[in-house]
Amino acid sequence: MRKSSETDALIDALTELSNQDMLEVLQAVFARRIPYEPEQDFQTSHYVLSVTSNVRLDDWEDGEDGLPAEEWSGWNLRVVGDYDKESYPEVAAGEIELGSGEFDQRGMCRTCQTPVASIAKRAICPVCGAKVFLM
Ligand SMILES: [Zn+2]
Repeated sequence: MRKSSETDALIDALTELSNQDMLEVLQAVFARRIPYEPEQDFQTSHYVLSVTSNVRLDDWEDGEDGLPAEEWSGWNLRVVGDYDKESYPEVAAGEIELGSGEFDQRGMCRTCQTPVASIAKRAICPVCGAKVFLM
């Protein structure tokens, strides 16, 4: 990426947004950009935001050599879906906010079998557009 004061300002602005606002901005960008131009007739593609996590499983006890015995779960990828605006009209109207504002609700889309994260339990799968219920 060519760095300029404009891109620095854009990065700063995106960094300061809440998770939900960042998602909405990126979804608006993703709606205008397609990843692959020439194959639209027989293939459809779109960008999605995703989050990946690696969870430490051990209990932070020292290993035999005195070093921490680290055990990790392995990287886990989830696509980030918007909350379901039909299920939360008061949120969509800006009257209340949802939970922590973090993408900590997780589950699986039953339609396309994609792991999904969102700020709300009722969300929209960004891959296939199905409504999903997260925990
Ligand atoms: Zn899906």
